[in-house]
Amino acid sequence: MTVRVRIAPSPTGNLHIGTARTAVFNWLYARHYNGKFILRIEDTDEARSRPEYTENITSGLTWLGLTWDEGPFFQTQRLDRYQQAIQTLLDRGLAYPCYCTPEELDQMREEQKAKGLAPRYDNRHRNLTAEAKAALEAEGRKPVIRFKIDDDRSVVWQDAVRGQVVWQGSDLGGDMVIARAGDTSAFGQPLYNLAVVVDDIDMDITHVIRGEDHIANTAKQILLYEALGAKVPVFAHTPLILNQEGRKLSKRDGVTSIDDFRKLGFLPEALANYMTLLGWTPPDSTEEIFTLAEAAEKFDLDRVNKAGAKFDWAKLDWINSQYLHKMAAQDLVELLVPYWEEAGYEVNLDSDRYWWESLTAMVAPSLTRLADVVKETRLLVAESVEYTPEAVEFMQQEGVKAVIEQVIGAISEAASLEEAEGKAIIKDVTKSLKVKKGLVMRSLRAGLTGEMHGPDLIQSWLLLHQKGWDKGRLEKALSLI
Ligand code: GLU
Repeated sequence: MTVRVRIAPSPTGNLHIGTARTAVFNWLYARHYNGKFILRIEDTDEARSRPEYTENITSGLTWLGLTWDEGPFFQTQRLDRYQQAIQTLLDRGLAYPCYCTPEELDQMREEQKAKGLAPRYDNRHRNLTAEAKAALEAEGRKPVIRFKIDDDRSVVWQDAVRGQVVWQGSDLGGDMVIARAGDTSAFGQPLYNLAVVVDDIDMDITHVIRGEDHIANTAKQILLYEALGAKVPVFAHTPLILNQEGRKLSKRDGVTSIDDFRKLGFLPEALANYMTLLGWTPPDSTEEIFTLAEAAEKFDLDRVNKAGAKFDWAKLDWINSQYLHKMAAQDLVELLVPYWEEAGYEVNLDSDRYWWESLTAMVAPSLTRLADVVKETRLLVAESVEYTPEAVEFMQQEGVKAVIEQVIGAISEAASLEEAEGKAIIKDVTKSLKVKKGLVMRSLRAGLTGEMHGPDLIQSWLLLHQKGWDKGRLEKALSLI
């Protein structure tokens, strides 16, 4: 048997971390078993589906490295298949038209609530006579189609993550709607549970791996497989992703779409790596840094946890920094450019690549997210800087002025300025002015960067020198003393 799994997002929003994590598990499972990973876009909800969300989903999956083998298939292109399946269920007497109006359904639920009962459809149109149907149709009512769910049925399956799951038919809300009312045809748009089952049958899906929030749907879907005479796939329900308070991660938690994570400066490899750990424990749990391909070698459903997976920003940051710190400056610089540009700095790698690469190499060890680069380099990426009150106050101390004047003189005389020359200037100034080296260093830092703390001083100075900005900055500093 070839393993065939799928990810089936609805294009009603940007690619969400929960969907992406489900995609990761499906991808890992397919790769582990040399199977196929299929992408299906569930766009039957025409009111809420948008092509730009489809684009966001496909580009997000691609960015994460979650390549698919078949698809994308679109449900809106398969409507005739759903119609056929609905007709089959009607012909077999397993589905029927229900003519209830929304008002009647509301009233029914109100009455149930008043009696302290859980709201459900009471199957009232299950056995209408032909005359009763004709009378309701004569009123102009258009029926939805409902699939029969017997209250005394119990649905049992061996979940590959949760073990045996048992659902009572009576807990499934009564006969379920599988098609909306049609305006012209006998029935209208198919609903989620029906379309998913038809697709999973047609696409020969062997394992349905999806979020735990679909468990009740699974019970209903198993009944549909049976009714359509199809083999039931293996189901695996993955744990939900939880926020810090232990509740399901939702839009209210702010950052939830893959785009948000990308903009914050997470690398796709790091985010994908982190997602593999959101609900899966590798056989060697001390090993936490791996590529998707490496994880696929070890991945199986028996090590997917039942308990919810708490989203841990500190861990994601740590994983991201591991990847960032391993990157070569020449690659990393390319990823940093958009962040500098967004912050308003002009970057031209074609003409000035060496400088930006050197800057990148210097700050890389202090980056956790790509976006940090703006904060980490802000003192070095423009010709001049503002001086903080702290720096000005420091520079007004005795001795600082003389240090800065001497350094300006030395820079003017130096033929070139590399690390050795920079260090020699500091040494000479220390000696000739008979001051402490610390004072020289701090004077230089305040004069060059406008602040008392920042990245490596000598490296920063060399970078400013390469741009021809060091002298001007020190002169501005002098004017403040
Ligand atoms: N379209 C459904 C969702 O986005 C798919 C669920 C499933 O995998 O069956 O939640």
